[in-house]
Amino acid sequence: MIEQANKKYFENFPRESYYGRCIFLSWYCERGTCKFCFRSTTKHKIKHASSAKRSMASILVEAVLAKHLEWNIEFLTGGYGIYPFNELLEIIQNVNKILDKKVWINLGSFTTEELKQLKPYVEGICASIETTDEKLHNELCPDKPIKPYSNMLKKAKELGFKTSMTIVIGLGEKEQDFKLLKQFIQEHNLDRITFYALKPVKGTIFENKQGPTTEYYADWIAKTRTAFPKIEIIAGTTARRYNEAGTLLRAGANAITKFPATKLFGTEQAKVIEQEAEKKGRPMKGTLTKLPKIDWNSQIDNLELKPALKEQIKTKLRQYLEAMEKNINNRR
Ligand code: SF4
Repeated sequence: MIEQANKKYFENFPRESYYGRCIFLSWYCERGTCKFCFRSTTKHKIKHASSAKRSMASILVEAVLAKHLEWNIEFLTGGYGIYPFNELLEIIQNVNKILDKKVWINLGSFTTEELKQLKPYVEGICASIETTDEKLHNELCPDKPIKPYSNMLKKAKELGFKTSMTIVIGLGEKEQDFKLLKQFIQEHNLDRITFYALKPVKGTIFENKQGPTTEYYADWIAKTRTAFPKIEIIAGTTARRYNEAGTLLRAGANAITKFPATKLFGTEQAKVIEQEAEKKGRPMKGTLTKLPKIDWNSQIDNLELKPALKEQIKTKLRQYLEAMEKNINNRR
């Protein structure tokens, strides 16, 4: 299945891969009841108050890094119920100014009116579907039914957005459930899908379970690539699973995501991901290991943002760059 998927990939896409960065807008989630999610654990809820928001500068610094390290922004996410719509819009507009292009978002379900307001700044809308087995979905995500997301995806498509879903493999789905995923993609005419392998989180019902094997995880990706030769597939891997990156690309993924690329920038794990991509004939655009020699401050000075915000971004960026350089030096 993987060889067939790899062939389909090469028939439809260039010999490259990329890293897709998610930008989190807040660590707290108003729903907070999905049974696999770290945001549902009591420890997490205590640590991250419902009012806690990430500062604009700390959100934007990730966009600056992504631009210059040539990462794609997979989507802006998190923060369900934390930001009023006008604040979300301001964040999205600022990220647009930095990247000089529209972004994808995964921020819950929006009304038609809100979608219309987002249209000038947003290229695509992603819905966190998690699993297309509705019974399993209702058990695991009691406060996040599929229907409103399904309706939003259809409406977004009508309005001219690209659309996408996320799915987590290892939640209890069966291999034969692939037909449900296939139906969902067809019904919504999705342009993109993001896969994640379940990461069993302490304090959840999955605490003592294992995440899926790479073979099983890659098999879902390969089936999707074979059934949908032109869809964009993004596959999550983590600081522990990074060795599987080459297999996921070979199974037909266009890109790798979820890997904590700023925290692990320049580390052995990041190097392995780049090498794996290279070995599979899919060198990565951009870099997970080398900082470009640019004048970061003047890049920020050139942005159309308020002067005080630019100074805050510079301060944050310095912290990020110092930590990234430290990783690089440690590897030498
Ligand atoms: S809605 Fe998303 S972030 Fe919130 S608890 Fe569920 S999976 Fe976690």
